[in-house]
Amino acid sequence: MRYISTRGNAPVLGFEDAMLTGLARDGGLYVPETIPQMSHDDIAAMAGLSYEEIAFRVMRPYVGDTFSDAEFRDIIAKAYANFGHTARAPLVQLDNNHFLLELFHGPTLAFKDFAMQLIGQLFQVALSRRNERVTIVGATSGDTGSAAIEAFRGLDAVDVFILYPHGRVSEVQRRQMTTPSEDNVHALAVDGHFDDCQSRLKDMFNDFEFRDGVKLAGVNSINWARVLAQVVYYFSSAVQLGAPDRKISFTVPTGNFGDIFAGFIAKKMGLPIDRLIVATNQNDILHRCLTTGDYRMDDVVPSISPSMDIQISSNFERALFYAYDGDGAAVAALMDDLKTKSGFAVSQGILDTLRKDFDSGRVSEDETSAEITRSYQTRAELLCPHSAIGVHVGDQMRDPNTPMITLATAHPAKFPDAVEAATGYRPELPVRMADLFDRDERVTRAANDLQALKAIVQERIKA
Ligand SMILES: *Cc1c(COP(=O)(O)O)cnc(C)c1O
Repeated sequence: MRYISTRGNAPVLGFEDAMLTGLARDGGLYVPETIPQMSHDDIAAMAGLSYEEIAFRVMRPYVGDTFSDAEFRDIIAKAYANFGHTARAPLVQLDNNHFLLELFHGPTLAFKDFAMQLIGQLFQVALSRRNERVTIVGATSGDTGSAAIEAFRGLDAVDVFILYPHGRVSEVQRRQMTTPSEDNVHALAVDGHFDDCQSRLKDMFNDFEFRDGVKLAGVNSINWARVLAQVVYYFSSAVQLGAPDRKISFTVPTGNFGDIFAGFIAKKMGLPIDRLIVATNQNDILHRCLTTGDYRMDDVVPSISPSMDIQISSNFERALFYAYDGDGAAVAALMDDLKTKSGFAVSQGILDTLRKDFDSGRVSEDETSAEITRSYQTRAELLCPHSAIGVHVGDQMRDPNTPMITLATAHPAKFPDAVEAATGYRPELPVRMADLFDRDERVTRAANDLQALKAIVQERIKA
């Protein structure tokens, strides 16, 4: 399987190099040259299989000959061994034809663990085989960083630096990043928003001298292997509800568009998905774009769902690439406008194409809290604020005759203040991480400045 850039002007790579590189050298994102197809029978045969076996069958065609079957099965087994639920991604019923896919049973209590735990194992095997070392730098609104640090701590082939917006992540998120004691992981608290962190990260990747000098690798949701890992639970959950003989819809609490884009790939592979519904908080650039065709940046307004406080949704570039039928030059032109004019507008035709697959809804802060309260009182279901946004939009937009699966993206105990304010009940951390608040923290405060951040990385990897 070969991977090409969404901007059409970067080297074509195999799976391993696309994974280790992250961002393409033309600033674009890697996508597979062709999308493997799953037949009706292939999908039907997944009924009743373990999560790991479905993961193997869904991801195998993308990996090509990078790993042997035995190696790849072993990587998958290790990736999900530390989850706190044997089903890995259990489905619970909320209402007639409305289901919640619990993606928060991994080691850092958010869906990011599904991809990051896998990437940790993939990097370990690939790098030790090449006898190479890389520097991973990631930007996080909270959950990616904790998941990355958890997945890579103690691995000898990698140093990990995580940029997070100082004061804008929850205490649980922060502690998951700052308490691991292994000296190959580094939490950097940047004076800025998540979008600043993400911009500095992109600047580092576009600085080729630095990029090559420190052997920079990316594990943000722009990394194709992250998207791929997330395709799996669309299959595992849909099959439980009757796919491929029944159409299923999904609602996804969305920030960077990675998770919902994985659903789009599942659909393109042949999974009968009816609607993919983007649920946003008040930072609603995607909802505005999918409504009007105008993708225009606005100020980030901090919310009680901080993992979705994003104005530039990196993975949306991949959706545009498919909407523009693989025209890399057209995508590059839009991204240029985004950088120089803070936005772009797509034509009515492109908007219609996007809306064939995606719908969207936006949820205010008050509605989010009210949904947490309502779900607790009427369904005995404690939702984190991100998941509540999904459930609210899913409920509003679903067709009663088509099963709707809403993705629960984080455990309520990861955002206890918002949950307690809405329900009066303070959710507890699972026992396996109950001592999180007693551990020592280790963090470096950093300016929102490329040179300063580069210097920190260079200094630490020499040490
Ligand atoms: C990352 C995250 C999201 C947004 O996912 P994207 O793939 O960035 O769209 C939503 N909820 C939680 C809890 C997250 O950690």
